[in-house]
Amino acid sequence: MSESKKVIAAIATAQAAGGVGMIRVSGDDAMEICDKIFTAVSGNELKNSKGYRAHFGRVSDKDGDIDECVALVFRAPYSYTGENVVELSCHGGLYVLKRVLRAVLAAGACPAKAGEFTERAFLNGKMDLTQAEAVMDLIGAQGKQAADAALTALGGTLSREIEADTEKLVNVCAHLSAWVDYPDEEIEELENDEMLGTVSAVEKSLEKLLATYDGGKVLTQGVQTAIVGRPNVGKSTLMNMLVGSQRSIVTSYAGTTRDIVEESVTLGGISLHLSDTAGIRESDDPIEAIGVDMAKDRLQKSEFVIAVFDGSEELTKEDMDILEFCKDKLCLGVINKTDLDVKNVRDEISKYIETVVEISAEKLNGKDELEEAAAKLLETDRIDTTQAMLTGERQYLSVTEALSCVREAKFALESGMTLDAVNVSLDCAIEKLLELTGRKASEEVVNGIFARFCVGK
Ligand code: GDP
Repeated sequence: MSESKKVIAAIATAQAAGGVGMIRVSGDDAMEICDKIFTAVSGNELKNSKGYRAHFGRVSDKDGDIDECVALVFRAPYSYTGENVVELSCHGGLYVLKRVLRAVLAAGACPAKAGEFTERAFLNGKMDLTQAEAVMDLIGAQGKQAADAALTALGGTLSREIEADTEKLVNVCAHLSAWVDYPDEEIEELENDEMLGTVSAVEKSLEKLLATYDGGKVLTQGVQTAIVGRPNVGKSTLMNMLVGSQRSIVTSYAGTTRDIVEESVTLGGISLHLSDTAGIRESDDPIEAIGVDMAKDRLQKSEFVIAVFDGSEELTKEDMDILEFCKDKLCLGVINKTDLDVKNVRDEISKYIETVVEISAEKLNGKDELEEAAAKLLETDRIDTTQAMLTGERQYLSVTEALSCVREAKFALESGMTLDAVNVSLDCAIEKLLELTGRKASEEVVNGIFARFCVGK
């Protein structure tokens, strides 16, 4: 039996107690295997069932009944994987689900590897690699925009765009090859301008796609964010407000936050991977000094900085150092403690940081303003989630490489190089695009993608 025809099984729902839990079984003999452990109240066997049918019954193993169960039957190719599939929905207790899975495995199925159901869907032509990646993005989505973008990609928007570009290049290539390989045939020579027009159009299209990566990355991967500010301005309190729980230690003594506390929060649908640091002032305390060094390092690496100031006090020398540091960074200024008597610090802060919001972290005031300002700065308010978008490093690299080959081809055409040279560059571009959709991806690439999935998907 070939590897892809083996019946695989896994718990497809979250590994936690829940109302319903589901075990997915996929492969040629999925129905026959499930018939060994499932008895429908109707007395009908799953192997005789039509597709898209639900059967109510019981699952049991050698020790007796395990649970009541609804068995959903899908017949190839009309299933998620494109194979015969049975989904056994039981009560969502972990004990029950694990025991049912053990029974399915004892009946002849193999445990599914991470992402193996989706990998089979890909291998069976149900989706391409960009859609498979979208499945993962959708599962991991932290907010509406990320979910919308993933759904657009799952619907094939990115694939269609890539395929349209590929086809244009393939047409030029095919014509060129025919013309170069069969000089005696009456093959009409493509006009240079016509080829240049097509290649330039593809160049533009790939450039446009590449430009979507920054936004796509922010939506799917989040943003490395540092909260910076001198001790006691309210960084930990702000972080707690964003996290929604008491995670950092909050005291009124300066310099309490010695370690870098990390937390991911969703602000306006964007994941911010926050680090709340010890501040960046010089310190004689050796432990604090280590914290300060770590903080500086973290700051250098962060993509987004939230600089916090105490609105109830005048700006200090350390505040000014922080402002100086923030000048060249993508930075959101936060004036905290606005529930107290507020000094006029805004004008000075605004000289260094363009976007400044006023909040009271302790009173939980200003979260909406923070969200809005962050979305503007990170430009997520301008992302059109209905359009094709690159969301992962792999996609970005493939398009970058394809674009570079397209530019080579364009240069070859413009500078009157041989058509062979044009052909070689176009071939390389096509290869990269086929790799992106998976129509010609190596096993390593495919395995690498699916290994990042969870088991059961
Ligand atoms: P950090 O050193 O910057 O992390 O500052 P903390 O978050 O530990 O806060 C220092 C002190 O300021 C604590 O006593 C907080 O309760 C207080 N604090 C923080 N935010 C506010 C605020 O919005 N208003 C007022 N009145 N006090 C605050």
